Amino acid sequence: MTAQHSIFCDDYDPNSLSISEATRRIIEAMNTPTGVEWVAVRDSLGRVLAQDLMAPHDVPAHRNSAMDGYAFRLNDWATQAHSSPIRMKLVGISAAGHPFEGSIPEMGAVRIMTGAVVPDEADTVIMQERVTREEASGTISMSAENLPPLGANIRMPGEDLKAHVMALPAGRYLRPADIGLAASLGLAEVPVRPKLRVAFFSTGDELCSLGQTPKTGQVFDSNRYTLLSMLEKLNVEWHDLGVVKDSPEALQEAFQCACHCADVIISSGGVSVGDADFVRGILDQLGRTVFWKIAIKPGRPFAYGQFTGGKHFFGLPGNPVAVMVTFYRIVRPALMRLQGRHPLPTPLLFNAFTRSTLKKMPGRFEFQRGILSRSENGEWQVDATGEQGSGMLSSMSLANCFIRLPESAGKIEIGSKVEVEPFDEGL
Ligand code: AMP
Ligand code: MG
Repeated sequence: MTAQHSIFCDDYDPNSLSISEATRRIIEAMNTPTGVEWVAVRDSLGRVLAQDLMAPHDVPAHRNSAMDGYAFRLNDWATQAHSSPIRMKLVGISAAGHPFEGSIPEMGAVRIMTGAVVPDEADTVIMQERVTREEASGTISMSAENLPPLGANIRMPGEDLKAHVMALPAGRYLRPADIGLAASLGLAEVPVRPKLRVAFFSTGDELCSLGQTPKTGQVFDSNRYTLLSMLEKLNVEWHDLGVVKDSPEALQEAFQCACHCADVIISSGGVSVGDADFVRGILDQLGRTVFWKIAIKPGRPFAYGQFTGGKHFFGLPGNPVAVMVTFYRIVRPALMRLQGRHPLPTPLLFNAFTRSTLKKMPGRFEFQRGILSRSENGEWQVDATGEQGSGMLSSMSLANCFIRLPESAGKIEIGSKVEVEPFDEGL
């Protein structure tokens, strides 16, 4: 940033960290967990694997049929493939869970159902729609050109997972497919990281809690509700410490209480430079500020600090949209790292044409709220969700993506290409 920029750009602040630098520093400061807890597979959704899961046996364990049909030996027909129709004698049934235990004579076939074990003597399965069954003679017949290739419709042992290979790595955030995979290995319990404990509170003398009647100048506290919802989605153990008054004594007490019950403390509000902004002062008394202020909009007044005992503190701004943006982009990846997640998910980014003019001053990285859609000719396009004030939660509620505008960008005209980041389940 040149001196000229600093004169003309209100948004330029030489003491702010860039978002990439702030994120890098925070992620680097996060310790990885060491604890291990065994939980039932059915309770492991959204938990983080603490150890690699190895496959104890092949999945599937046996050769089995991919179709309802007939199992036979293709070789029996090698010299007679020209003789049409081909007729096979039915000698038994292999149903799922009830394997055929006899032997298959030459030119014999076994009725087989999907998932049933393919008899050792058979090497090929033909689907039932390709044959004609003659009940009276106990035979099936088909034209020679309908003979399938060797090995058709047979699932081989280990084709999903081979015995002794890693099925799921440590650090894996367990999704429904992973839960099913663990169950397919016969694992009743899985080793996961203990739940992260997160305490949070709102600060502000103007805040009114739900159920109270607001007096003149009061606003309802919404930050605690967005925070607890975002924390809930992260599957942490959260502790809501309520609304804390703008006084050093009240804040001190809240921090002490939070350090008692949690590994991570998150506050909103009171972290800027106003006369009632005491958060950083108390942080410096009880712990230390690692950095303060990030060159992003919304969300510049953001503090990261530490308390003794390895507790991490995130001081979020008070404005409701700034709370969501800074939580989603900065705090959430940090919490994932503390949960032991590896690798961290990287944001999916798209290029889209903006259908709105986007107001912006150079100096800060902006996360404007947008609605991403496909145009009639299949291109990505984005509309801003109206006014972008950092207190306007409705703009966030309408949005399905962030429009990411780099620090150096100024006003963006309609039709320009911009980078967008669709929200995943976290917002
Ligand atoms: P602050 O950072 O404390 O100066 O707050 C900035 C703005 O966010 C002010 O307009 C506050 O009233 C508002 N604000 C702070 N905390 C909350 C909250 N928990 N819920 C809703 N608005 C809030
Ligand atoms: Mg305040």
